[in-house]
Amino acid sequence: MPFCGGEQLLRAYRLAQRGGYAFMANNVAESNIFLGLLSAYTKVQSDLLVQISPGAAKFAGGGDKKAGLRALSMMIQEIAAASPICVFINLDHFTVGERDLIEEAIEHRLVSSIMIDASKESFDDNVRICREVRDRAAGSGILIEVELGKIKGVEDEIASDDSLYTDPEEAVEFIERTRADLLAISVGTQHGVSKGKTLDLRVDLAARIRDRLRDGGLETPLVLHGSSGLLPEQVRAMIGNGICKLNKDTQYQYVYGRAACEFYREHAGAIIPPDGVEDDILNLFAQSDWSPDKSMFDPRVVGKSIQSGIGAIAAELIQQAGSAGKTLYSKTESVA
Ligand SMILES: [Zn+2]
Repeated sequence: MPFCGGEQLLRAYRLAQRGGYAFMANNVAESNIFLGLLSAYTKVQSDLLVQISPGAAKFAGGGDKKAGLRALSMMIQEIAAASPICVFINLDHFTVGERDLIEEAIEHRLVSSIMIDASKESFDDNVRICREVRDRAAGSGILIEVELGKIKGVEDEIASDDSLYTDPEEAVEFIERTRADLLAISVGTQHGVSKGKTLDLRVDLAARIRDRLRDGGLETPLVLHGSSGLLPEQVRAMIGNGICKLNKDTQYQYVYGRAACEFYREHAGAIIPPDGVEDDILNLFAQSDWSPDKSMFDPRVVGKSIQSGIGAIAAELIQQAGSAGKTLYSKTESVA
């Protein structure tokens, strides 16, 4: 049973904090990205953390978020079942408007952790909303991630025009009152396409937040959203200063698009009829001497290219995070 719950995930974060490494949190909306990730992570014996956003659930369910969430979680759990690593599932950026989905995830243990994002609300409302989810998840083992501060950019269906850095003093009060397990902080990253070299990254602020939490007796792992455009040295600096989880979504979206684009560009002649051939899609060119090449237009073929593109980038990102060889799986007696 390599799909592992929150207890194992918390253990993985604790070991990462002590060992000076982190986990990339990889967004998944369909099977190709997941399969590419699973292959890369298995190869180097790193545990794998995947994330499902409300938008991904909506897409996978053809508009029905609840069906999509169940389908994605079950797909991940079933495919991961024979893997020699632990696979964790996080709900990414769920808001107060998705209470029924959060309820579903907790009731059916569809996930290992839930991020409740009420960072747009006032401090007190943020506390109240997060605490409600924390209380609802009590006894389930599911971890709760909360966010304090605002991260610029567009994440899934949530947009923020400006950034607001996380205040270290507020962070302590926030964690004490919400009793959350993980804290997403705003220290200068941006959601979406960003350029690491132009970001005003506040590594010092991450360190201060971690230190203030520690002074308050809290070992809360910190989370960095909007990590897709970061340079390797920026990632390493963040990991050295309390960050245990780095969210990656945009990067895989680009790799997916790039792999598909290159594949179809290279094999266009096998799929698009040449000049002079009638474009008879309906009859699959039954009346023409020319035929498209099934070994190129079968979606599983481009799917393989996408998976290997995702796998290659994931392998690099695992190196940045330092999680290779650290799987809990063989060390875990019961991982159910
Ligand atoms: Zn985010």
